[in-house]
Order: sequence, then structure tokens, then C-alpha cells
Amino acid sequence: MVVLKNLSSQQLELRNRSRQFANDVLSQVNPAIKSLHTSRERFLATAPFYESLVKEGFLFNMIPQPFGGGATSCLDMAVMAEEFYAVDSNVSLTAFASILGLSPIFIAGNPQQAEKHLSIFLKKEGKPIAAFASSEPGGSANVNAPRPAVGLSTRIDAAKDGWVLNGSKQWVSSSCGWDNKGADLLCVSGRSELSETDDPEVSIVILPKENINIEVEDIFETVGHTAHITPRISLHDCHIPKDYLLGSLGQGKQIIEQAFTATAALVGVFAVGLMRAAFDFTLNYAKSENKGGLHRILDYQAVGYALSDAKMQIEAVRGLAYRACIAQDNNEKGAHELALCSKVYGSETAVKMITDLMRVVGVDSYNKDLPLSRYLMDALALPLFDGGNMGVRRNQYHQILMSDSYNSLDTLLE
Ligand SMILES: Cc1cc2nc3c(=O)[nH]c(=O)nc-3n(C[C@H](O)[C@H](O)[C@H](O)COP(=O)(O)OP(=O)(O)OC[C@H]3O[C@@H](n4cnc5c(N)ncnc54)[C@H](O)[C@@H]3O)c2cc1C
Repeated sequence: MVVLKNLSSQQLELRNRSRQFANDVLSQVNPAIKSLHTSRERFLATAPFYESLVKEGFLFNMIPQPFGGGATSCLDMAVMAEEFYAVDSNVSLTAFASILGLSPIFIAGNPQQAEKHLSIFLKKEGKPIAAFASSEPGGSANVNAPRPAVGLSTRIDAAKDGWVLNGSKQWVSSSCGWDNKGADLLCVSGRSELSETDDPEVSIVILPKENINIEVEDIFETVGHTAHITPRISLHDCHIPKDYLLGSLGQGKQIIEQAFTATAALVGVFAVGLMRAAFDFTLNYAKSENKGGLHRILDYQAVGYALSDAKMQIEAVRGLAYRACIAQDNNEKGAHELALCSKVYGSETAVKMITDLMRVVGVDSYNKDLPLSRYLMDALALPLFDGGNMGVRRNQYHQILMSDSYNSLDTLLE
């Protein structure tokens, strides 16, 4: 089995196209949103950029080939993620979160469900958005907690001709859609009765826009990703047919875990994108500024050492994150562990490294006109989202370590 490889010629081409698109199009996002006052205004201002991303086939390229898209692997996703995140986190996250929204269908959908619900995302037109509505106002780290813990409180109840959904969700990327009437498609987690005697178990259903009855209760003003939207919504009596259930009743925990494994590997790549942008900015700054001294600040040993440390951290996280993606693609035994390493180590390294680079630039980095504070505010989300590093990801790592079959060498190249 080939486990470490060079990028294929198609992946190199994808990287070049992604870099070009990021430089030509995504670089215009920040100027377009800078003077806008609310998350909603900024999110709406990203619509043309997201539409271009769709039109250029990048959303298509994130959908796995077996479902009619162009993605051959998690490594393809990594190639796009690094180039996009290095330039703009907002439209990038809207696109990647849409793929997360579709991932329960990739994991547990049957061919009829895939054909019916994926078609608008494959078309390379419009600005279709999907979201995976998992997180809830009461917390989301304890979805798997045994009774009497609440875990998840959204209900998916059997109705005469299908299912009816009721509940609240929050922090779910783009779930309110462009028009506040809901995303084009939600995959929603909730509890259903398996039998009259058992506790209700977690299941996942498909909720297309035409079946969504939504109230947008709040739209959070976030410190970073300021043109990406994460509202609090409630779903009232949303009726869906029986065959919108994904997999079987009670399969939800497994679907959630699978969906959030590939994303963990990719969060390390998001971190690389942000760190790379911060490093390039700071290196240029250090080469071009002398701050009233005799020579450029790069020539101070302290500055040179700090930049060397920063670049080493990028290389370490890039190696780890890409390795985690390749382990996913090869379905390796250590894939889950490597994904968690990529998520936790990558995200926390990015926060620390960008903070260190702000000290290199000095007080001017505290001015929002320079980009470092924006990169830092974006990086702050990485340990918190996609399963918080404290409540979810280290917890998952701990479970792996406690397994009797754990072998620390499973992460080695085979
Ligand atoms: C920009 C952005 C986009 C997002 N997109 C989505 C999305 O598309 N879909 C979605 O569903 N969610 C989304 N989220 C929400 C996010 O992914 C989760 O809500 C979040 O990761 C849950 O993590 P948490 O650990 O903070 O959970 P919480 O349940 O809020 O826990 C809070 C804290 O309590 C402690 N804690 C709780 N339980 C435990 C435990 N068992 N062990 C140890 N400590 C514990 C930890 O210190 C933890 O940090 C998004 C969030 C952001 C910021």
C-alpha cells in the first residue's frame, strides 16, 4: 500500500487553480466586508464570492467522485483548504461546512437519497448551501452521554406518514441560509424512540429547504470568521417523509463520529493556511522595516530565530495534517488518532505561533489595518469548533488510549 506520496499531476493542477482563485477572487472578500457592521451583512456580501467558487467547480471538486463530484481523496480537500484559508477564512469555511453538511449522506445515504438530495450541489451554478446541524444551545460535547444527561434534545418523532422534527440548534454554519429561511439542505441530529422501553437514541435525518420551518433566534457576532454565519435557530414541526432518515434509527452517533474524523484532519490544514499567511506577512515586514534603526529588523538575531521557529511549526503541522489526510484516504488503523493530532496540535500551534509573530512585528500588529490580528482571531476558532479540543477532541483521544487494543505504533507508516 502506498501511504506517503507526491501529489498527483491532477492534485498539483488543483493546487495551482486553487491558489489562482484565492489570489484573484478570495483576496477581495476582506475589502468587501471590512466596513460592514453585522455578521449578517458581511455574510451576504460574500454571496458573489461563494457563487464564483461554485461556478469554478470548487464545491463540485469537494464532493467525492462516487457521488458524482470531483474529489478523489481527503488530500484533494487539503490542497484546496490550504490555498483558500491562506487568503480568506470566511468563504472557505462556508464551502467546507457545506461539505460537512452533506457528509452524513456520503456516509449513510442510499443511492436514491444521494441522487435526490445532492443534485443541486453538483451543478456548478447558484450558491447552494448545506449544513450539519449537530450543536445545540445546551452544549454539544456530551452528545454520547448516558442518561440522565440530556446530551442532545432535538426530537425526531415518528408521525403518520414520516417524521416530525422539533428543537434548537446553534453555531451551525450557514444554517439560516442566505434568506434566513434555512440552508438548501440540513442534515439534523436528534433523538428518536427505538422502542417504547429504550431511551431515545441519536439519529440523523435529511431536512431539505422546502421542509424547513425555521425561526432565526440570534446571529452571533463572532471575533473571527466575521463574514461566516453561525446563528441560533429553532426548528418547529418540520415534517419529512420516512425515507429521509439516514441509515437506521439510532445510527446517529456513528455517523457523527465518522463525519467529524475527516474534518479533524482538515482543521490542521486550515491552521497551516493561516500560519502560512501570517509567516509570509511577517517575513516581508521584517525584510522591509528598520523601525528607525540602522538595519532591517530581520537582521536582529531574535527576529530571525523567531521566524525560524515559526516556519518550523508550519512545516511540522503541514507534515502532520497531510499525513492525517493520507491516513484517512488509506483507511489506516491510526487514521482517527492522526486526525485528532492534526486537529488539536495544529489548531493550538496556530494560535501560539501567530501570537508570537505579532510580537515580532511589534505594536503595529495591534492595528487592524495589518492582517495579523485577523489571522489570530480566525485561528482562535480552530481549537473551539469542529468538536472543542477540551470537551470533545482530547476526550476522544483519551478513549482511544483506554482501548485494550490500542497500539501506539499504529500511526507509523505501513
Ligand atoms: C465558526 C464555527 C462554525 C461551526 N460550525 C458548526 C457546524 O457547522 N455544525 C455544528 O453542529 N456545529 C458547528 N459549530 C459548533 C462547534 O463545532 C461545537 O459546538 C463545538 O465544537 C462544541 O465544542 P465544545 O467542547 O465547546 O462543547 P460544549 O458542550 O459547549 O462544552 C463547553 C466546555 O465544557 C467542558 N466540557 C463539556 N463536556 C466535557 C466533557 N465531556 N469532558 C471534558 N470537558 C467537557 C469543556 O471545557 C468544553 O470546552 C461551529 C462553531 C464555530 C465557532
